Amino acid sequence: MKITREQAVVSGRVLQYQVRLHRRARRASVQVTRREGVVVTLPWRAPRRVLPGLMAEWESWLEGQVEECGVWDGPVVREFASGSILSILGRPRELVLEPLAAGRSRPTARLEADALILCMPTERLLEPRAELEKYLRRLARSDFSERVDSWSELIGPRPSRLIIGERKSRWGSCSRRGTLSFCYRLVMAPPETIDAVVAHEVCHLVHLNHSPRFYALLDRVCPGHREAMVWLNEHENDLMV
Ligand SMILES: [Zn+2]
Repeated sequence: MKITREQAVVSGRVLQYQVRLHRRARRASVQVTRREGVVVTLPWRAPRRVLPGLMAEWESWLEGQVEECGVWDGPVVREFASGSILSILGRPRELVLEPLAAGRSRPTARLEADALILCMPTERLLEPRAELEKYLRRLARSDFSERVDSWSELIGPRPSRLIIGERKSRWGSCSRRGTLSFCYRLVMAPPETIDAVVAHEVCHLVHLNHSPRFYALLDRVCPGHREAMVWLNEHENDLMV
């Protein structure tokens, strides 16, 4: 993949965006997210001169999306500090950053009903992102593995392996070998939403496709899965670290 930074004027405003030349891309596409800003993907050999035409064609759609995500100048990186509110297991929690007691260097985390308390060395208090991410990954691992266990019990097969990582385009996936993978940031969503994603992937251990039989099974075990997906689409930008 080749990546370049570009600028365009969209509805009279300057927009910073990224172009990716992708070997597997068959046609031009554009995506707007808070995390990555505007990303235009083009087939590997597409010439740069196609860009103005594409941007003009997408202009009115782009304007709305860019405005909604606030990414005129590029990706939005979320800042975290004491007092920031973030959702964990669907509940808003206040981030409380505290210095570790003298002589201690190992960060600790405690989740309370309305707060997440992170204790870390004083010099790291201004940059809590890494610690926060580590905590969410840990929580995701324990929470998702319990959910996978109970959905597996209900549905039948068990995964051969469970991977918790960062995923940009999907919340979960199931491989041919029976490995289930989930994006750790899903742990910020409400429990019923996490359950729907987990149920979906566990159902793939029975049917590795989106056939009517797959959906019949998913509808039976998790009737609310469609609402959960709608929620996820609408709140994608809130589940960012
Ligand atoms: Zn699926």
